[in-house]
This record gives sequence, structure tokens and C-alpha cells, in this order.
Amino acid sequence: MKTHPEISIVIPVHNEQESLETLYQRLLGVMDKYGKPYEVILINDGSKDKSAEILNELYERRKDVLRIIHLNTNFGQHIAIMAGFERVRGDIIVTLDADLQNLPEDIPTLVEKMGEGYDVVGGIRAQRKDRRWRLWVSRWHNRLRAKIAPSLDMQDEGCMLRAYRRDIVDLMVKSNEATVFIPALALTYASNPTEVEVSHAERELGTSSYNLYRLIRYNFDLITGFSLVPLQIFTLIGVSVSLLSTLFVFYLLIRRLIIGPEAYGLFTLFAILFFLIGIVLMGLGITGEYIGRIYLEVRQRPRFVVKEIKENVNHTEEK
Ligand code: UDP
Ligand code: MG
Repeated sequence: MKTHPEISIVIPVHNEQESLETLYQRLLGVMDKYGKPYEVILINDGSKDKSAEILNELYERRKDVLRIIHLNTNFGQHIAIMAGFERVRGDIIVTLDADLQNLPEDIPTLVEKMGEGYDVVGGIRAQRKDRRWRLWVSRWHNRLRAKIAPSLDMQDEGCMLRAYRRDIVDLMVKSNEATVFIPALALTYASNPTEVEVSHAERELGTSSYNLYRLIRYNFDLITGFSLVPLQIFTLIGVSVSLLSTLFVFYLLIRRLIIGPEAYGLFTLFAILFFLIGIVLMGLGITGEYIGRIYLEVRQRPRFVVKEIKENVNHTEEK
């Protein structure tokens, strides 16, 4: 038996009972045909449906390539992928979603691209098939990210069909941050990343784990995890506002000396006040986001807890 797979495929699974059988058939079909030695690590991210049983059953069918990690509870897509990253043995690591929105048939394309000497290959969903509000949120978020964290040069950061060289994955694992956004973290370590077009399918089985709230949280994590620009913008706004109000005070002072005290314009003053309070609240919120991150880091809790691992012992890589 081969003890060293070339390709490790890492797939997070959260309530995907409808998709798993089809995923298994298609993925293993593609990979067996492709012919390079591979392993598939499926991480059950605290699913509440029948995913756990189905995964164990699939494992019994193909112990030679499948490895299953059951997490204790739901830790989120990216942390689940990290749990898989900690245990990969391949030279090239491919991530994809379990819901078949990414096509397993695209994996060889990514692997071939890696063969050209890139250390990260991201997928670009040429024709993204998602709800309209999701596309809209993504588009705005992308624009914002391009401004705030220009070092993260990606066309489609939301696409999780991606390939990484092993050293990049090892660096990501070592980073040990409490909250991660994997495509962005990879780019901070990559020296030669690229992107290729991949297909995207509608979610036909099961439902998305993301609602608007989770999506917004996720985007905040991405921005506060990779950029200090929001804080810097606030400092700049703070400085400009204080300068302007100093001028305003001078103006009022001079006006008072020349024309006398003013009694009107009360509501103008309120408007200015509310505007300033709004800015202050927003600044507090943004500062809070960063403090929250610091809090998560200093707590130093384990990022995830593994309940059970199913893997063929002969398989374990010697280090
Ligand atoms: N997922 C996960 N943990 C979560 C949420 C999602 O492991 O807390 C997995 C999910 O099973 C899927 C992938 O992450 O394989 C993408 O999730 P989903 O399809 O719900 O997101 P969308 O495609 O709507 O962005
Ligand atoms: Mg999906």
C-alpha cells in the first residue's frame, strides 16, 4: 500500500446528509480515474443530521482513501478545514465544499495548474449560481476588501475550491489563530499564487449553512483578521473632525464678539451632534471588533475539539 498520497482532499461537512453519497461517488470516480495516489479527509463539523452515520458508512467502503474526523460540535467551516489541514499527508492539498456546488471534476484542473509551479491555485466561479442577495453581498464585500486589504489580491475569495502546496498548509496550521479565513491566510504566505476558472453549480441537495448574519460575521472576521485600515480610517476621521470643530469654535467666538451671541440654529447643532455621536459609536464598534479578536487569541482555547477519528492506521505518516 502507498503510504504517501500525492493529493489530499479536505472537505468540511455540516448537515450534508443529502449530498454525501453523490459526493462520494463523483469524487472517488474522478480521483480513481485521475490515477495519482490520494486521500480524502472529511471533517464532520458537528452535524445534527445523519451525516455522521453516513460518513462512517462510507469509510467502511473505502478505508484505503477515506479519513473521517468527527468534531465535538460545530466550529465553523474554516476551523473544520484547519482540523483537516493538521492531518494532511499529501504534497498538494485541495479544499472543496461538500454540497457539490464545486465540481469534483475540476480537481485535476487545479492539480495540473499547481504542476506549473504555483503554490496556491484559487478557483474563480465563472458563473456563480447562488441567490441574488448573496451575489450582491459578495460583490460589495469584494470591493471593500480590495480597498482595505489590497495585499489579498483575489478575484473570488468565497470560492472554496482551491489547491495549496503542503508548505503553505503547514504555515497556516502553525499560525494557530482563533478565527481564520483560509483563502486569505494562504495568500499572506504564498509567493506565487494564481487563479483558474472553475464551474459552480446550484445547491441542489440540502440547504446552505449561511444566513445573512453568519455572512456578515464572516466578512468582519475577514477584514479585522487581515487589515488595520478600519482603525486607521477612524483615527483620520477623528483628527479631521476635531480640526473642523476647532475652526467652528473660533468662528463662533469671533461671531460672538462682532455680532453677539446666537440663539438660533439649535437644530443644526443637534444634527451635527448626532452625526458625531454616530461616528463615535461606529468607531467604538470597530475597535470592539479588534478587541474581540484579541480576546479570542489571548484566551488560547483550542480551536476545535476532535471527538473521533476514523482512519486506516497503516496510513499514518511517519514524521
Ligand atoms: N460547513 C461547515 N461548517 C459550518 C458551515 C458550513 O463545515 O459551520 C461546510 C458545508 O458543509 C459545506 C461548506 O462548508 O461543505 C460550505 O457551506 P455552505 O454550502 O452552507 O455555504 P455556501 O455555499 O452557501 O456559501
Ligand atoms: Mg454551498
